[in-house]
Amino acid sequence: MREPPLFGCIEAGGTKFVLGIGTGPHDIRATARIPTTSPAETLEAAIAWFRAQPPLAALGIASFGPVDLDPASPRWGYITATTKPGWDDTNMAGAFGRALDLPVGFDTDVNGAILGEHRWGAAQGCDVAVYITVGTGIGGGAMVGGRPVHGRGHPEMGHVRPARHPDDSDFAGICPFHGDCFEGLASGPAIQARWGASLSELAPDHPAHAITAWYLGQLCVTLQAVLAPQRIILGGGVMATPGLIARVRDAAARASGGYFGTGSDAVIVPPGLGDRSGLLGALALAERAYM
Ligand code: ZN
Repeated sequence: MREPPLFGCIEAGGTKFVLGIGTGPHDIRATARIPTTSPAETLEAAIAWFRAQPPLAALGIASFGPVDLDPASPRWGYITATTKPGWDDTNMAGAFGRALDLPVGFDTDVNGAILGEHRWGAAQGCDVAVYITVGTGIGGGAMVGGRPVHGRGHPEMGHVRPARHPDDSDFAGICPFHGDCFEGLASGPAIQARWGASLSELAPDHPAHAITAWYLGQLCVTLQAVLAPQRIILGGGVMATPGLIARVRDAAARASGGYFGTGSDAVIVPPGLGDRSGLLGALALAERAYM
């Protein structure tokens, strides 16, 4: 039997790059973590690691953004106007493709995550599905008909403005662009700014839990209204808070006013790939670049 092709994958985050090689979720042969410092230093270290690995068939990169995903653009594969200092206009796909002489699949971190979840995780068999990360920011990747949604740029679901929780009316929100969008109100830094602790550090009866769930429930209902996804997968550091997903389901059921019917337990789910959605998503991007 022929050996399956070996792929390289990169989950490129604002604090670290996670690198891996493998053929699928049950065959990740090596991984490494590199702190995200300057683009030159980080990319050089990552390229050196891949050069020390066995020959690869393709590379996939699921990156923090914003990124240019327009295949007709001369800056396809670039990180564009990011708030991460020093990373504006960084050619990611091109740098790796040239240095390693490989085809490169490139997408946002959350588009990568929904691709990985669709290939091997909680969105298998779904025609429409969304992956939301709730961590240092709130971002979402959507898949429709087996393809991640691009368009003019890529969706920025965390930057929709919700209705305010009645007990949370005096917090301005921390999004530098919109103040009280979902990211400005319910991301990890927003929770920290409001209550001086992470959600998992606050007692289970602290109002922060109900308020955060209220916003995330609204986000789920907004996505149901716009895209009718069969799955809304909630990942990221904040979602690791015990009991939060159940609170979000309850909040979504209340926010929908019964309009979307029942069944949110089957729709609003944790990642099937645990904390590996991003890295395995990058592997799925490599597969697609190879095909
Ligand atoms: Zn915003």
